[in-house]
Amino acid sequence: MNNSKIWLSSPHMGGNEQQFVNEAFDTNWVAPLGPNVTGFEQDLEQFLNDEVCVAALSSGTAAIHLGLVLLGVQAGDEVICQSFTFSASCNPILYLGATPVFVDSESETWNMCPIALEEAIVDCISKGKKPKVIIPVHLYGMPFKAEEIRAVADKYGIPILEDSAEALGSTYKGRKCGTFGDIAALSFNGNKIITTSGGGALVSHSKEVKEKAVFLATQARDNAPHYQHSEIGYNYRLSNVCAGIGRGQMEVLKKHINLRRQMHEFYLDFFKDISEVTVFQEPNSDFFSNHWLSCIVIDSNTLGKTSTELRLFLERENIECRPLWKPMHLQPIFEKYPYYGGNVSGHLFENGLCLPSGSNLTEFDKKRISDVLKRFFSINL
Ligand SMILES: *Cc1c(COP(=O)(O)O)cnc(C)c1O
Repeated sequence: MNNSKIWLSSPHMGGNEQQFVNEAFDTNWVAPLGPNVTGFEQDLEQFLNDEVCVAALSSGTAAIHLGLVLLGVQAGDEVICQSFTFSASCNPILYLGATPVFVDSESETWNMCPIALEEAIVDCISKGKKPKVIIPVHLYGMPFKAEEIRAVADKYGIPILEDSAEALGSTYKGRKCGTFGDIAALSFNGNKIITTSGGGALVSHSKEVKEKAVFLATQARDNAPHYQHSEIGYNYRLSNVCAGIGRGQMEVLKKHINLRRQMHEFYLDFFKDISEVTVFQEPNSDFFSNHWLSCIVIDSNTLGKTSTELRLFLERENIECRPLWKPMHLQPIFEKYPYYGGNVSGHLFENGLCLPSGSNLTEFDKKRISDVLKRFFSINL
C-alpha cells in the first residue's frame, strides 16, 4: 500500500521552469537582475491586467516591508492589520518600530470586518493618532470586502496595503486581487499557488512607485560612480534564477487555479450531507477565490468530536492538515497590542482546519483522503 505523505500544499512544477533556469545559467545572469526578472514582472503585469507595475522581490514579507516604507510608515506610527492572518502580514510593522493595531474578521469572507475597522480608526483618532496604513488580507485566497474596506479607508484618507500573498488569481467583481490596494504584496513561497522557491512582488499603480521600490530593494544606491547612500536600503530583489522558475509557473497558473478549485469542489461534495461541517466558500458570485487552501469549520458540540481529533486522525494516516491561522491578537508576541472586534477569528481558529489542497493531488490521493474522512465521520465505506 502506498502511504506516502499527502501535503497541504506543495510545489507543483509545470514543466518549463528548468528551461528558464538553464537560460539564466547559459547567459550567466545568475544575479538579482536579468531577463527572467523583467520577464516575470511583465507576465504578472499582464495577468493582473489593471495597468499595474510589478517589482519582483525576494519574498512577500519584503514586499509588505517596502510597501510600508513607501507609504511613509515611521517609528511610533500606528498601522491597522487584519488579526486573522499569517504573522508576515504584521511583522514588518514592528521592523519599522511602528505599532500594530489588530482588527477582527467578519464571518462571510473571514477577512477584515469593515465595522471593526472603522471602530479602530475612530478610537485611534480620538486618542490623537490617525493610523498610517490599513493592511487587509485575502485569506486562503478569499477576496476581502474590497468596496466596504475601501469606503472606510477613503472616508478617513488612509492608504491600503493589500496583502494578496495567498490570492493570486482571485477576483472581486471581476477585478483581480492584487490591484485593490494603493500598494499590494504577492508571495511565491513554496506553499503558495505558484512558487519561485521563495519570492514575492510589490504591485503599485505607477512607474515611479515601482522604481522607488526597486531602488530601495537594491540598497538605495544614489546615482554616483562610488557607493553613495542618502536613504536606508534593503537587499530585497528577486534573483534571476528564481524568477526563471516564476516564468515557468506563470504558464500554468490558470490551470493550477482550476485544480485548486476542483479540490474545493471535492470537499464541498464530500461534506454536502454532513451538517456538522461547513466548507468555506464564496458568499456570493461577486467573489471568486483561487481556493489556495480548502478550509472547513466543525460544529464540535453537535458532532461530538473536535477539529483537533480530526487533525490527529488524518495525521496518523500521513495526511497533513493544519488548524486555521491563529489570530495575531492571541499570539504571545502580539497580545499586548490594541485589538478591535469580537471573537469571529478566535472561533474560526478553535474550530477550523485546512485540508490538503494542492493542485498536484492525484485521484489516488483524493480516494485516500475521502476514505479516511469517511472513517472519521462514520460513513459506511
Ligand atoms: C505567505 C504569506 C506572506 C509572506 O510571504 P513570504 O513570501 O513567505 O514572505 C504574507 N502574508 C500572508 C497572508 C501569507 O500567507
